Amino acid sequence: MESSLQIELERMAKELGADLFGVADLTIAQDFVCKQGGEHLRKFSKAISTGIRLLDAVVDELYRHEDPAVIFTYNTLYNSVNSRLDHIALLLAKRIQEKGYQAYPIPASQIIDSSKLIGVISHKLAANLAGLGWIGKSCLLITPNYGPRVRFATILTDAPLKADSPISAKCGECRKCVDICPVKSFTGASFNPSEPREARFNAHLCRNYREKRKEKLGEGLCGLCVYVCPYGRSNKNLP
Ligand code: SF4
Ligand code: SF4
Repeated sequence: MESSLQIELERMAKELGADLFGVADLTIAQDFVCKQGGEHLRKFSKAISTGIRLLDAVVDELYRHEDPAVIFTYNTLYNSVNSRLDHIALLLAKRIQEKGYQAYPIPASQIIDSSKLIGVISHKLAANLAGLGWIGKSCLLITPNYGPRVRFATILTDAPLKADSPISAKCGECRKCVDICPVKSFTGASFNPSEPREARFNAHLCRNYREKRKEKLGEGLCGLCVYVCPYGRSNKNLP
């Protein structure tokens, strides 16, 4: 049964603008988490994953991502959502601390190793373990209702919260993200926790493409793999 603290944290997150909230049991992935983020994370047995849905009207225009107006609007949305997520993560962490437990908020968008292009912890892994979605062939977290049109923050904690259960992948035979990527970053392989990310995704191809776009357009986001996923698309008539 969920504790009163867990109910309070979910209510707080949603009142502050979150659309998704779940709790992950990190003990099953602790070695992986510590290898990436450091041994100091081992004391956290749970992770709260909270997400904010992006705006369809903005994501639906990303097929015109060569238009600076489209990509600057997406960039502003992306940064605003990340900033709100960091705010939510801070306030949830403060509340957990007031209750006598430790909480360690992980920013929504942060790279700690520029050669591997990874953060302190994978928000997608936390959201997956928290039952909010599966890791798709695009290596994005695909939620049943909003697809990949969601950004996430994570709060690591030792508070005694009740973990949710992961859900299985539902990409099936779809390859839309693999086919649309202009630099063929995805191999088309399904997520397998025993394989490294490189088996599915060449993050350097994606980053190099976005850096070239930044030189040309002044902003480097792409987002075609977010745009094209059939999950979360409310307008079925998009090109
Ligand atoms: S953001 Fe664009 S370049 Fe990067 S993986 Fe997605 S589709 Fe490919
Ligand atoms: S576009 Fe298709 S294959 Fe790619 S993540 Fe979405 S459902 Fe999975």
